[in-house]
Amino acid sequence: MKQIQMVDLKTQYEEIKEEVDRAVLEVIGSSAFVNGPDVKAFQEEMEKYLGVKHVIPCGNGTDALQIALMALDLKPGDEVITSDFTFAATVEVVGLLGLKHVLVDVDPDTFNISVEAIKAAITPKTKAIIPVHLFGQAANMEEILAIAHEHHIHVVEDNAQAIGGSYTFSNGKTEKNGTMGIIGTTSFFPSKNLGCYGDGGALFTNDDALATKIRSIVNHGMGERYYYDRIGVNSRLDSVQAAVLRIKLRKLDEYIAKRQAAAQYYNEFFSQIEGVITPAMNPNSDHVFHQYTLKIDGVNQFVMQNFLREKGVPAMIYYPVPLHSQEAYDAERYNDDDFTVTNKLCKSVISLPMHTELDNEQLNYICTAVKEYLGQ
Ligand SMILES: *Cc1c(COP(=O)(O)O)cnc(C)c1O
Repeated sequence: MKQIQMVDLKTQYEEIKEEVDRAVLEVIGSSAFVNGPDVKAFQEEMEKYLGVKHVIPCGNGTDALQIALMALDLKPGDEVITSDFTFAATVEVVGLLGLKHVLVDVDPDTFNISVEAIKAAITPKTKAIIPVHLFGQAANMEEILAIAHEHHIHVVEDNAQAIGGSYTFSNGKTEKNGTMGIIGTTSFFPSKNLGCYGDGGALFTNDDALATKIRSIVNHGMGERYYYDRIGVNSRLDSVQAAVLRIKLRKLDEYIAKRQAAAQYYNEFFSQIEGVITPAMNPNSDHVFHQYTLKIDGVNQFVMQNFLREKGVPAMIYYPVPLHSQEAYDAERYNDDDFTVTNKLCKSVISLPMHTELDNEQLNYICTAVKEYLGQ
């Protein structure tokens, strides 16, 4: 059996090696390293794929979130509601801009931001909500957009983990994740569902004026050449990464199908195992399985992780510590009792290997190891 990896980027690369090597060498040969033709082409191909008017590539997913908040002209002290159970980047950028993060609890089944908790957290100072489409499944966008509309609040989707997935509204309309809010952001970090071979990210919007502003912010706030309209940043996707992403974007749907097939295998196996809760499926959202995360009550996940590791099965705890109790994110400002779901999830989640190259022999081995740990 091939060694099991949490994410197997090497085998994936071997399958597209010829195409990738040629494209990367072409960029190097052209010496158009920054803002070359591949960046523009990738941008257009991504716009088409997502059905969105504007894709603005940038340096990484964290920058994308920061730039989104800058483009919305939020002022120090403005409140931004986001999830307590997410990767730190989401809340980090809020703090970095001098905005006030308001972390709220999540739904115990989907792990996504709780609509009830959002409602309870809204104040006259709330200016934005950042739902995170965690682990590959969209948050409850219909209700989030409705609340935001009612209170004149911006919605910025952190779509770093659910690119290629979509959400269906009750009127039957289906939209790609990242294109429903005023701005959507994503990351092309290598291990994401659409990953490049270094750092990369992008913003999405259907708003022409915002797109112009975002394009200026990613380039030092420049409007006309050497005329600066605002404070910006330097955040670009380089041409080598764009060349890789063009190839991988063409394969994204196939990659998603492979992840879904692996998830299906896990689901079937674990339906026979007591005490293991497989990922809940929101009927309005397809799941593109950035992570395959089990909930298991009454085990110490770190002991389980070590047991699995000794058997050659990597597993990760995403996420072990709620953000509201982190020193960097004003832990003293939050009341631990407001986060019963996140507190519990952090003690019961464990993510198994999930990528495009898992075969049935590996999947069976992983499942059997979990079963053995649980003494079944
Ligand atoms: C990965 C990730 C980011 C940050 O992306 P980078 O490209 O690593 O900066 C932000 N939010 C979420 C939810 C992520 O998973």
